[in-house]
Amino acid sequence: MPNSPDSNQTIAPTGIASQQTGPTAVVAHFIRNRIREDVAAGKNGGQVITRFPPEPNGYLHIGHAKSIGINFGMAEEFGGSTNLRFDDTNPGKEEALFYDRIMEDVRWLGFDWQELHHASDYFDQLFDFACELINTNKAYVDSLDAEQMRVYRGTLTEPGRESPDRNRSAAENMDLFQRMKNGEFADGEYTLRARIDMAAPNINMRDPILYRIRKIDHHRTGSDWCIYPTYDFAHGISDAIEGITHSLCTLEFEDHRPLYDWLLDHISIQQHPQQIEFARGNIDFTVLSKRRLKRLVEEGFVDGWDDPRMPTLAGLRRRGYPPLAIRKFWDSVGVSKSESIIPMIVLENAVRDELNENAPRSMAVLNPLKIILSNFDASETRWLEVPLHPQHEDMGTRRIALTRELYIEQDDFMLDPPGKYFRLKPGGEVRLRNAFIIRCDEVVENAAGGVDHLVCSFDPDTMSGLPGAKRKVKGTIHWVSASHGKRATLRLYDRLFKVANPIADKAVDFTEHLNPASLQVIDNAIIEPDLATQPAGHQLQFERTGYFAVDPDSTPEHPVLNRTVSLRDSWAKIAGQ
Ligand code: ATP
Ligand code: MG
Repeated sequence: MPNSPDSNQTIAPTGIASQQTGPTAVVAHFIRNRIREDVAAGKNGGQVITRFPPEPNGYLHIGHAKSIGINFGMAEEFGGSTNLRFDDTNPGKEEALFYDRIMEDVRWLGFDWQELHHASDYFDQLFDFACELINTNKAYVDSLDAEQMRVYRGTLTEPGRESPDRNRSAAENMDLFQRMKNGEFADGEYTLRARIDMAAPNINMRDPILYRIRKIDHHRTGSDWCIYPTYDFAHGISDAIEGITHSLCTLEFEDHRPLYDWLLDHISIQQHPQQIEFARGNIDFTVLSKRRLKRLVEEGFVDGWDDPRMPTLAGLRRRGYPPLAIRKFWDSVGVSKSESIIPMIVLENAVRDELNENAPRSMAVLNPLKIILSNFDASETRWLEVPLHPQHEDMGTRRIALTRELYIEQDDFMLDPPGKYFRLKPGGEVRLRNAFIIRCDEVVENAAGGVDHLVCSFDPDTMSGLPGAKRKVKGTIHWVSASHGKRATLRLYDRLFKVANPIADKAVDFTEHLNPASLQVIDNAIIEPDLATQPAGHQLQFERTGYFAVDPDSTPEHPVLNRTVSLRDSWAKIAGQ
């Protein structure tokens, strides 16, 4: 993180189109422009301090990564800093384990916060500010129950009505509020409301609730409190306490901004952050909502929050998504105020681009078919030094064993192929990747009449690196030594949902749209043995097959790899319909 700016100095705006900051080129957008203007005008002493405020009630998903990227990204760009604040004002829904996970996920994306806070750290101050509003007749204790309040609130076309309790004296309100705090009343018996305007066109301004009674322990403050502030009350004040300058959030808070501003205008606090809203990020073929993701976990549709099919950051990480790809993806989508659903293909292409550049290559055979090289010495192991990446020599080389018995892909052989079949067929030739050209001399059947194995011969002059290597055949296939290859489990993941928008039809539960083929387990794949000892998270490309990452379940005895993404998109047609 950059250092905090010198307060005497106005930070020069750096966000111009040709400059690089973070992972991708800077693209103009309204938030960047807005902040640049504020900095140029010397607002907040030219400082930019933002925050990312997750509610610790679930794992972060890729939608959150958009908000993280904007909040951290803007601060970083203007030489400021970002706080991580757990918005833990909702006891009961929050669990301790989520705090750690959220921190881990933010760091995984490559961001670090300046200060770590919890809204619950401010419970005392928030209570004092509520008292201040009571003393200035800007808040009152109300005895309307939820249903009555709904009726009194009015509608979009009808103004609301004032509660009979609206004109209690400040002294009476203070007494009741203290007694609410002391636990003298039951849940729902009283609330504290702001006294604003029951006829306001914006319903959020019709005397919104600031505090409610909830006799439930908070896992940070224990039983200290039985009244808890609402999001609207706590959020803006927490921002102000921390000296946040720009509170960047999603559009659903746009209608809450007048209340955010009203509250800060009516309490004695200097700082008044600017709330700026942007459109949520949405992606097709998945759901980005903790509530729904929680259902998938709790009802056993997936194997936990970090199931590689989940759009959670933990899931994507396990699946092998590079964090930089996620950041570049959101950067390329841009920031605007109009809601849209981004095709999953765009995200997958960002992942492919990143892995194509950086993932070392390897070979794996998913459905093994044995071939015997009749003219290769049975006792010989020829070690080939082959590049880890065909375009990046600097990545170095790996050693692969070439032996008499090899496995190739069943799909790369056909007994009776159609005309333009360039892989292996009886009497046909194909090049083995990184090695030589082989010819299929004999097909040996098994008892059931299927193909048991092939007997082939190799042409020694065509070894990669020799002059004869120039001899061309149309097909090149991958292979693994039968004696050196290691058996592995490959988990082939696909879209979690089989329709683009699983929540479009409100009459159908979104779980009905889950893709039954979202996971295919290949138990007897054969991989290059070195991979067995790679750590969880190691990313690679199995040539011709896809990008994979080593799963945390993997052991040297039993390697497990997850398919991150196929080499090419197979959903384009479906999505385009
Ligand atoms: P969910 O609806 O998934 O539960 P949330 O908005 O309730 O999400 P919070 O933990 O409250 O989750 O979110 C923290 C921040 O992340 C908020 O500022 C919110 O605006 C932002 N955020 C959440 N989802 C998205 C998204 N899909 N795109 C961009 N920002 C998001
Ligand atoms: Mg929320």
